[in-house]
Amino acid sequence: MSGTGHTVPGRRDAARPVSARTAVAGVIGDPVEHSLSPALHNAAFAALGLDWVYVAFPVRRGDARAAIVGAVALGVRGLSVTMPHKQAAALAADRRTAAVELLGAANAIVVRDGVSIACTTDGEGLIADLRASAGFEATGRRCVVVGAGGAARAVVLALAEAGAASVVVLNRTAERGELAAALAGRVGRAGRVEDVDDADLVVNATPVGMRGAAAASPGASAPAGTGPAPVAAGEHPATRTSAAKVLDLAAIGGRLAAGQLAVDLVYAPSTTPFLDAASGHGATTRNGRGMLVHQAAGAFELWTGEPAPVDAMWSAIDGSAADANAAGGQARGGPET
Ligand code: NAP
Repeated sequence: MSGTGHTVPGRRDAARPVSARTAVAGVIGDPVEHSLSPALHNAAFAALGLDWVYVAFPVRRGDARAAIVGAVALGVRGLSVTMPHKQAAALAADRRTAAVELLGAANAIVVRDGVSIACTTDGEGLIADLRASAGFEATGRRCVVVGAGGAARAVVLALAEAGAASVVVLNRTAERGELAAALAGRVGRAGRVEDVDDADLVVNATPVGMRGAAAASPGASAPAGTGPAPVAAGEHPATRTSAAKVLDLAAIGGRLAAGQLAVDLVYAPSTTPFLDAASGHGATTRNGRGMLVHQAAGAFELWTGEPAPVDAMWSAIDGSAADANAAGGQARGGPET
């Protein structure tokens, strides 16, 4: 550390020197400079005294296969995979888990005996966070997922595998919503905004509300006259299979009430228009930091075979499980209550 308290580039904690025996893991993505994964994983290695180090590898779009093959050749033990490589990594690995086969995307690579295995821990990360921090079990619950991209698909599959009674998908583009809902098998279907009214859990898996993303209002997400026409409340997406609709996340959050759990996968900022609206109507709210921590914990356990020190990982991102309860909402049964 320098006298100003800032880390000097190129140096690291002398108490944990890297040696010729140090195991290496890392994250591939573009951009990757602002990733929280090095802080999460290095804190976990330090907490358990493991001789591992985790670094960020900037890898350009189209280079995921070369990066994974190179990592195996270099003896790298594990990789996290972030945008834009999640789909390419699933294809490029030597093997895939059953969940990755279904999702067509991976967020972690495990290297064992020179073989790369594509894994997914995103969906299970959310389930684990809701269980640990909010006391929420998905078994038998009515769930709504807004969005149908990579994160939404992982969540839909994980909720169905955890025994949810129903998994309803709301998405701007109807076709993608139907495809995502199909991942939940017989408990999955594409739905409409009214489905949130009697849901136990509503998850925003769109980037609406994320720092730098489009605002939540319909007008902001589609410039007037150029974007898709709003769908009237209650209109089923199946009636407009070739169209896209504008989803107003603040309005969806505003339909929620006490006894319902609203989760936004967005973790920066710590609250969003969806969570603000849900909290304002009495719903319990939770942001995406818990999923971030628990998906990393899942990857850590796959690589090292050790139980992840989740508390140390929370501390590494400057927070605690309680901090992930956005907008003053209180999670049920968690350590903060
Ligand atoms: P993605 O694959 O690009 O999917 C985005 C989804 O959001 C699509 O279904 C898209 O609808 C929908 N969408 C985008 N803009 C919208 C708008 N203005 N209005 C309505 N719907 C909109 O993205 P992703 O990788 O799934 O990520 C989604 C969010 O989850 C991001 O905020 C990401 O940071 C977060 N995330 C968090 C974690 C975590 O650990 N907490 C992990 C993964 C992702 P169409 O299908 O119509 O295009």
